[in-house]
Amino acid sequence: MACSLETKFVLLTREMDLEPDEPMGIPDPPRSLGGWPVFYAAARGKRIPLLKILQSSFCERNCFYCPFRSGRDFPRAALRPKELAQAALALHRRGIIQGVFVSSGITGGSLATQDRLLDTLRYLQDSRFPGYTHLKLMPGADREQVAQAVALAHRVSVNLEAPSARFLSRLAPQKWYWKELLQTLRYAAEARRERLQKGLSAASITTQFVVGPAGETDRDLLQVTQQLVREMEVQRVYYSPFRPVPDTPLEHRQPESPLRVRRLYQAFFLIRDYGFSWDELPLDGHGDLPREVDPKIAWAQRHLAYAPVEINTAGPRELLRVPGIGPQTMRRILRARRERRLRDLRQLQALGVNVRRAAPFVLLDGKRPAVQPSLPLEGSASQALYTPSSFRADGE
Ligand code: SF4
Repeated sequence: MACSLETKFVLLTREMDLEPDEPMGIPDPPRSLGGWPVFYAAARGKRIPLLKILQSSFCERNCFYCPFRSGRDFPRAALRPKELAQAALALHRRGIIQGVFVSSGITGGSLATQDRLLDTLRYLQDSRFPGYTHLKLMPGADREQVAQAVALAHRVSVNLEAPSARFLSRLAPQKWYWKELLQTLRYAAEARRERLQKGLSAASITTQFVVGPAGETDRDLLQVTQQLVREMEVQRVYYSPFRPVPDTPLEHRQPESPLRVRRLYQAFFLIRDYGFSWDELPLDGHGDLPREVDPKIAWAQRHLAYAPVEINTAGPRELLRVPGIGPQTMRRILRARRERRLRDLRQLQALGVNVRRAAPFVLLDGKRPAVQPSLPLEGSASQALYTPSSFRADGE
């Protein structure tokens, strides 16, 4: 039965909160703007209203966690590239969205599906769409398709779903870890490097893991995260807490704890922005991060509690290891101490340091600052789970 464009939009934007494009990794539910479901996402350094949509919710594959898996009985829809692009352009002109994130179920194979996604992007470009564009790369997209996506979009993503082929086989047995997912990611990294070397713009690259049902440890996820960030140009790794979807093979599994995911994000920032390596992180005997305290505090309790860092002489790397000091505040400290010695916590606070976190682990001019033990450490399990700053290792 034919359905209206509005109905198709509702069908195709449903469940898109599963696809992250947010600063915190935990997607917002869509809001209705002018009757259209619109998500908010981080792009170009700010939060913008985004049309997150599937080009098609038909899919020939059968990933065990996915609401769009083949054979699942629910109303589906598909849009032609021009239809989707024109609707996005109209929403942009009306000021309802500032960008689009387009993904798709797979029909007729990955290559044909990727071509349709690229056609949508080309149509937007030919129509001088000025907004942000995020394009999903299909598993097994070819090198040329990936290169075109990296040239056309602001961001591309390939969801790895799991940290190895063994774990992936428990989630999506029809996906090939090396041949389809890592290879596509490699193509994207190569295309990005080539374009940047020529001084051309290139899409940033992100990926996503489904956390929980495959039985992976935090170590499994963080080891691969480090490789992706340091060797494959991946700017952002998203950890999606598994939530069971009715009428899927994993429907009776427990949802993953949001606290686990929060700790993974904190560890991600430590690896990406703070110079930590996965094997320095405070993993327990099972290979998991502590849940009760954030990983930077846990690391500092083991390493800095009896060997505090002298703020006036420590190098950048040492300063970054102190809880409460992030890349920005580290730079401010380096600048400030060229002019004066830093002797008390108020001076640190004025530079933006979170002194409640930092105080137990620093020396100021050779002296330990007074610590008020009654103050809770930020990052403790009692803190609200999804405040934006709680995902940063130090609230920066
Ligand atoms: S290929 Fe994508 S849309 Fe299709 S079932 Fe797997 S995750 Fe879902």
